[in-house]
Amino acid sequence: MSNNFPVPSPATHGELPQQENGGRPSPVIAVRHLVKTYMVGQTEVHALRGISLQVYPGEFVAVMGPSGSGKSTLLNLIGCLDRPTSGDYWLMGTPVSRMSANQLAGTRNQRIGFVFQGFNLLARASALSNVMLPMVYAGRSSKERERRARRALQLVGLAARVNHLPAQLSGGQQQRVAIARALVNHPSLLLADEPTGNLDSRTSLEILGLLQVLNEQGITIMLVTHNQDVADCAKRRVVFRDGRIVRDETIPVPRSVQEIWAAEVKQGSDGTGVQIEEERSHE
Ligand code: ADP
Repeated sequence: MSNNFPVPSPATHGELPQQENGGRPSPVIAVRHLVKTYMVGQTEVHALRGISLQVYPGEFVAVMGPSGSGKSTLLNLIGCLDRPTSGDYWLMGTPVSRMSANQLAGTRNQRIGFVFQGFNLLARASALSNVMLPMVYAGRSSKERERRARRALQLVGLAARVNHLPAQLSGGQQQRVAIARALVNHPSLLLADEPTGNLDSRTSLEILGLLQVLNEQGITIMLVTHNQDVADCAKRRVVFRDGRIVRDETIPVPRSVQEIWAAEVKQGSDGTGVQIEEERSHE
């Protein structure tokens, strides 16, 4: 895959051209020469050494690489959780690198959904309350917030579990609540950091199936993983080493979770996809 960044002309310095690559839509993410250096005492830690990358609408990108290679640092920068030492970042054509802390927080809340390895749900809040939380800052009425949260939980197959506390849900269900929470503000981008890292292989498949369905519905996904099977479910693989991208390739035939389910159901086991449908039927 081409990694040529659309270098802004002098007249539009800092502005991302709206159309490039012969009419291809503007990237959701465009980063150029992104550098992140941490100071630990007197020592500089070069976490990112000049990353250039574009991610287009509808892509599903798996970010791989050894521990310490810079994957989480990049995800934090793309997720507006941190600022680069140097370099530029455009999110949906908006130059993020120049935003104030308040603008960054607003962008994060409105445009980006996060899913983490540890689910990060509020233990004492129901699934519904957890999913309603990101909308507190969006100035919506409580009725509207509840309606949208119920819809998001329905989308992930948990309409029958809205009043459950996280501890009353399985790991896979908790991660689905987290995905519903990530989607509830209709973000342009879903960022996932090892979303299946705490789940057994069967439940991982369930979550990956959900991510694939969401991606088919048009959500752009960037997912960090150590697991090759997980990465094979994406459409593109970006490999990091020592703060640099060393490989960036299209996955010609992504592993289809639906097909794995279908094969399992054919063999007589109760596929995970069927389970999601069952939970929906309790609405
Ligand atoms: P990965 O996600 O690929 O495991 P990270 O992005 O977490 O890698 O880390 C990249 C490098 O930056 C590592 O050497 C790590 O020790 C260092 N690093 C990450 N976060 C910090 C921090 N807050 N302070 C200092 N060094 C950090």
